[in-house]
Amino acid sequence: MRVCVIGTGYVGLVTGACLAHVGHEVICVDNNEAKVKLMQSGQSPIHEPGLSEIMQQAIASGNIQFTTDLKAGVEHGEILFIAVGTPALPNGESDTRYVEAVARGIGSNLSSGYKVIVNKSTVPIGSGDWVRMLVLDGVAARQKEMPVAVAPGGMPVIPESFDAPQFDVVSNPEFLREGSAVYDTFNPDRIVLGGSNPQALELMRKLYEPITNRSTAENQSLPPVPVVTTDLQSAEMVKYASNAFLATKISFINEVANICDRVGADVVEVARGIGLDSRIGGKFLQAGIGWGGSCFPKDVSALIHTASDYGYEAKLMKAAVEVNQHQRVIAVEKLQQALKILKGKTIGLLGLTFKPDTDDMRDAPALTLVEQLVRLGAKVKAYDPIVSQTGLGQGLTGVQVETDPERLADGCDALVVVTDWAEFKSLDFSRMAKLMSQPVIIDGRNFLDRETLEGVGFRYTGIGH
Ligand code: NAD
Repeated sequence: MRVCVIGTGYVGLVTGACLAHVGHEVICVDNNEAKVKLMQSGQSPIHEPGLSEIMQQAIASGNIQFTTDLKAGVEHGEILFIAVGTPALPNGESDTRYVEAVARGIGSNLSSGYKVIVNKSTVPIGSGDWVRMLVLDGVAARQKEMPVAVAPGGMPVIPESFDAPQFDVVSNPEFLREGSAVYDTFNPDRIVLGGSNPQALELMRKLYEPITNRSTAENQSLPPVPVVTTDLQSAEMVKYASNAFLATKISFINEVANICDRVGADVVEVARGIGLDSRIGGKFLQAGIGWGGSCFPKDVSALIHTASDYGYEAKLMKAAVEVNQHQRVIAVEKLQQALKILKGKTIGLLGLTFKPDTDDMRDAPALTLVEQLVRLGAKVKAYDPIVSQTGLGQGLTGVQVETDPERLADGCDALVVVTDWAEFKSLDFSRMAKLMSQPVIIDGRNFLDRETLEGVGFRYTGIGH
């Protein structure tokens, strides 16, 4: 099928490349020229395991093209994905200006023939109808610009070349996780489709068939991927409710961890005991220094905001946010307990990205930590396997990014594990301890082995562990 994906970030580029990989003809449109040039040369602008490989294969097979030309993309696609960012405004509301620009742009370039316009971006409930309205506005704007013939008697005549475009809007929220986005796209738990026209929903089912029939799956013997077909609003709500639930689950275990710290229980053991209950499950039960990233914070605030717009106070979600705000500075409290005064101390952060295997720093807990430590007069250094190699850290203020873990340890009064990068497990902690002024480590992800670290001289503190 002919597909156009507008917005080639973590979601759009992965979606476009994976759909091209399964045989669709994809045009990816982005308004960032530098990014488009890079992608045209076969390079991925983001770090995502497996992405460069499938991009290059798709380029070689001719199934994917990259352009800044929205008109070309809209003309090409029978299915048009909107996958631009929806960051949070300062009041927590979703900033939908990029979606708005794209929807109007689609409208003013819509050609004849039936199209499905898909909201892949996470958009506030009700955005499906709003996008439809904006597309129609775009169509009307283009119509106005067309030369109008005048019939005898002075009546305007709609030019014959103008066929009213036929389209439907479908909501198809995305659940991929950064760091395993390609894997998640080929191995989804479910596909959610919201819309009212069966023709549009059927086209979407057909589009995803190579994925739902498990031909791309790691385990091809699994039953087909469930497709949840529903109305627009419910599909939009599924996305927000999923993220709000997961964020609340993490805040819950973080709260349990804080109680564990006080009563002498170990949250890692507690989480194992809880998680083996099949009604609860073990995922998202890792206590630590809080959730962050480009989705949870903004999606939970957007849902709280929507609830308030409709006269409801989302108390549980507000509490999840409040617990998280405290959790994001808990490492500072633990550093104060271990070192007392932080002014004049040097703190080394192991990891900067909000999770391993990504280069994404949006709303990462590391940023809050750096800000707080600098405010308290500490010097902050950091080592991150991706940020240190790519130069992404150059824009960060208040933190000196080191090129290797030993340079990080050198002269530090304490280390804080901020991101659970797998490679941190095999660092030479014995040598690092010797390079430090004081061998203190706060394991903000309960990720390293306490006994090993204590064995090489570290004073180890976990989170509720
Ligand atoms: P992103 O910021 O990485 O990418 C957005 C892209 O859109 C950028 O490349 C930008 O240049 C492009 N863009 C902006 N305006 C444009 C325009 N007018 N025309 C063409 N391109 C334009 O965003 P992302 O992280 O991929 O997120 C996209 C959406 O998907 C968001 O709504 C997000 O909430 C949702 N989502 C993200 C994730 C994730 O893990 N990142 C997961 C699920 C859902």
